[in-house]
Amino acid sequence: MDIQAFRKNAHQMVDWMADYFEQIEQYPVKSQVKPNDIYQLLPETAPEQAEDFQAIFSDFQKTILQGITHWQSPNFFAYFPANSSYPSVLAEMLTATMGAQCMIWETSPAAAELEERMMEWLKEMMGLPNEFVGVIQDTASTATLCAILSAREKASGFTINHTGFTGKEQFRVYCSSQTHSSIDKAVRIAGLGSDHLRKIEVDEHFAMKADKLQAAIIEDIANGFTPLCVVAATGTTSSTAMDPIKMIGEVCQQHNVWLHVDAAYAGTAAILPEKRWILDGLELADSYVFNPHKWMFTNFDCTAYYVKDKGALIRTFEILPEYLKTKNDHTVNNYRDWGVQLGRRFRALKLWFVIRSFGVEGIRNRLRDHLSYATYFEQEIKQRFEVEIMTPTHLNLVCFRFKPTGLSEDALEKYNQGILDNINKSGKAYLTHTKLDGKYTIRAVFGQTYLQKKHVSALISLLEEVNTEHTLKR
Ligand code: PLP
Repeated sequence: MDIQAFRKNAHQMVDWMADYFEQIEQYPVKSQVKPNDIYQLLPETAPEQAEDFQAIFSDFQKTILQGITHWQSPNFFAYFPANSSYPSVLAEMLTATMGAQCMIWETSPAAAELEERMMEWLKEMMGLPNEFVGVIQDTASTATLCAILSAREKASGFTINHTGFTGKEQFRVYCSSQTHSSIDKAVRIAGLGSDHLRKIEVDEHFAMKADKLQAAIIEDIANGFTPLCVVAATGTTSSTAMDPIKMIGEVCQQHNVWLHVDAAYAGTAAILPEKRWILDGLELADSYVFNPHKWMFTNFDCTAYYVKDKGALIRTFEILPEYLKTKNDHTVNNYRDWGVQLGRRFRALKLWFVIRSFGVEGIRNRLRDHLSYATYFEQEIKQRFEVEIMTPTHLNLVCFRFKPTGLSEDALEKYNQGILDNINKSGKAYLTHTKLDGKYTIRAVFGQTYLQKKHVSALISLLEEVNTEHTLKR
C-alpha cells in the first residue's frame, strides 16, 4: 500500500466507521457464531503475495464482523460496558497513526506530560484525595498487581525484588468473597501463594464486613502471618456492592496494612457530586484504581491508577539500563518505572479528546441519564413481572430474577437461564448473569455511551415477549 492508496482507503474506512455507528443496531448484539466457525473460514497459511486492500476489507466485513459482539451497541447491557465514543475513536486513529512508543519522557514528551495533566484533571473532576498521584495503566488487573507488588516491597523494606522470598514473612492479603478475580491473579503473580489470600465474609448487600476483617487480621497476626494488603471494592463486578472504605481503612491504619481500592467500573460515578459518597474514606487508601475504559466513554484500554506514595511505586519497578538513561531522568516522569510494562501506548490522548469533547458537564449529564434509566427499568419490571430485585441498585446495574410463584430454586434457575438464552439468541439485546447468594441472577447494566430511554423500553418489551413465551411453555 502506498501513501495515495492509504489516503483513499482511510477515507473509505472512515465512512464505513460512521455507517457502522449509525447502523449498529442492525447487527445481532451478541455474535451468533459457534466455536471454530471463524477459524475454519481463515486460510491455513499466510499469503505469499501482497493482497489488494479491497479484498482484505471485504473479508473483514464478510468473515470477521459476524464473529464480533457489538459492545458499542446501545442494546448491550451485558457485563460492564467497555465504552468508546466518537472523540475517543478519533484520538485512537491519531495514536495509531503516530505509533509513538511512550516508554520514557524523551520518547514523546507530550505523551508523558499530557498523561500527568489528565491524571490531575481526573483527580479534580472526582474529588480524589489531593496527595494522590496518577498514572495510566492498561487494565485494572495490572493496577491491582502494581498495588500488591508495591505493598509487598514496602512491607519487606524493598528487599524481595532483590533477594526473593527466602526467609521472608508469610504475607496475607484480604478481600471480600465478592471481589474480582484479578485480585486472586495478582496475589498469585506476586508470588504470595493463593492460599495467602483471605476472603472476608460479606453482609446482606454483598459488602465486606469490616469487623470480620479486623478479626481475621488479629487472628493472622497471632498465628505469625504479616497482614500485607486489603483490597476493598467500590462496586463489585456481580452487583456493584460497596465495601465500607472508611471502616476498612481504619482497620488497615491500626495494623499498618496497605489499602487498595478497586473501583474499576463504579469509580466514574464520582464525577457526580451526589454519588461521591461511594468514595467516602478514600483518603485512608494507599492506592486506587478506576477504568475510564469502562463507563467514561474512552476506548479500551485506559485505566487510571492513583497512589499516595509515588516513591514506593517507583522503587518497586525502577530499572535503568544504560540504553534508557537520559539527561532529564531526575526532572521528568518516566512512566516505564510506574508499572510492569516498558513500552507504553499513548493513552492520554483519548482521555484528553473525550473530556474536552464532552466537557465535564456533558459527562455528568450522560451518567445521570444512565442512572435514571436503571431506576426506570427497575420500576417498570417490578410493576410488570413477578420479579425479585436481588440487591439495592446503587448505580446503573440492576440485578434481578423472574420469580413465578410455585417454582423451586432449581426450576427458577432454569427459568431465568432460558429467558437469558432467548434474549441473547434474538440478537436484539445482550444481558449476562451472575449468582448472588447462590441464586441465578440476571444483570442489566445501563451504561453504554449512546444509550437512550427508547432502548431501555425496547429491552423491557423484549423481556415481556420472552417471559410470556416461557410462561406459556410451563
Ligand atoms: N475490578 C472490577 C470490580 C471489575 O469489575 C473488573 C472488570 O470488570 C476488573 C477489576 C478488571 O478490569 P480489567 O479488565 O481492566 O482488568
